[in-house]
Amino acid sequence: MESMTDAPIKITKTTASKLEQVDFSNLTFGKNFTDHMFVCDYKNGEWQTPEIVPYGPITMEPSAKVFHYGQAVFEGMKAFKDDNDDVFLFRPKDNLDRINKSAKRMAIPAFPESYFMEGLQALLNLDRNWIKAGAGNSLYIRPFVIATESGVSASPSSSYRFMIICAPANAYYKGEVKVLFAEKYSRSADGGVGYAKAAGNYGAQFFPTSLAQAEGFQQIIWTDAKTHEYLEEAGTMNIFFRVNDTLLTAPISDRILDGITRKSLIQIAEDKGIDVQVRPVSVKEIVEAAKNGSLKEIFGAGTAATINPISGFGHKGETFDLPKLESSYASNFKKELMAIQYNTKDDPYGWRHKVLS
Ligand SMILES: *Cc1c(COP(=O)(O)O)cnc(C)c1O
Repeated sequence: MESMTDAPIKITKTTASKLEQVDFSNLTFGKNFTDHMFVCDYKNGEWQTPEIVPYGPITMEPSAKVFHYGQAVFEGMKAFKDDNDDVFLFRPKDNLDRINKSAKRMAIPAFPESYFMEGLQALLNLDRNWIKAGAGNSLYIRPFVIATESGVSASPSSSYRFMIICAPANAYYKGEVKVLFAEKYSRSADGGVGYAKAAGNYGAQFFPTSLAQAEGFQQIIWTDAKTHEYLEEAGTMNIFFRVNDTLLTAPISDRILDGITRKSLIQIAEDKGIDVQVRPVSVKEIVEAAKNGSLKEIFGAGTAATINPISGFGHKGETFDLPKLESSYASNFKKELMAIQYNTKDDPYGWRHKVLS
């Protein structure tokens, strides 16, 4: 069955929903996808009519440029449902702006705002029963763009595909997270693509991360490529340090991703009267703070996990454990952010964006 929305989006509904087959109390992050997906092709210099179709495999030429030159960017966002079954996104325009910033760096054409916002709305409407109310439940949304032109010449593709797929998610808890401060490998460099959510940034981290895992750490905190003396961010999360009651985080740059969770937390912390210092954070000061007991917390911030407390870190063969706090910044900020996301408190910032009611 096909129909049109206000925006020119062509909708083909599934005839076989998978909803009943999914155990919502026991979800593996990013494994089960909803019934529909959004697809929009770019060719002849413009984005074509977007479509929503049943989720499923796509067919591409083996010579498609994405496979050879990694012209691919993505986003990560979430939809939340409140007790009235209203559905909200969190700062969605920022995700569109960022995917277009990432796209620009990878010579991919920008995606139109109306297609993005109306595409999301139509997709979430079709798959709204996949979004469960209750703190911790959400729908993880993965927009992405890939280069589809066939041909292995090393030049930008003339055709692209923009897609959005969605996966229901529970509260994301991975157990204790210990991190290793990077001493050799780098995630990004000056003038590079670290600020973009470009696919290759992530693939390149798997190997060094596997080495860290073999040493008993779950993740790496990347340091600046030049000196490895400044702490920058984790693989998919920005990173915060609490020294006494001061919150430290690195400034964004062309090496560091401008996280939406990060900037929201900075705002929330400042509004609570917390001293937030956005400045280069040195390995040396954090190691010293760990030694003299003034290092209270380290936590990651990103859409998937929201806030991920870190229990310890390793550096040059030494490991340091962080104290277990009764009331941490991490848990307070998480509560505050989730209250806005799940519509259980006022949103003084205008971050909550109702998509369905
Ligand atoms: C996505 C991502 C983040 C977090 O960004 P959010 O907008 O908060 O989800 C941080 N660092 C990197 C490298 C990322 O890819």
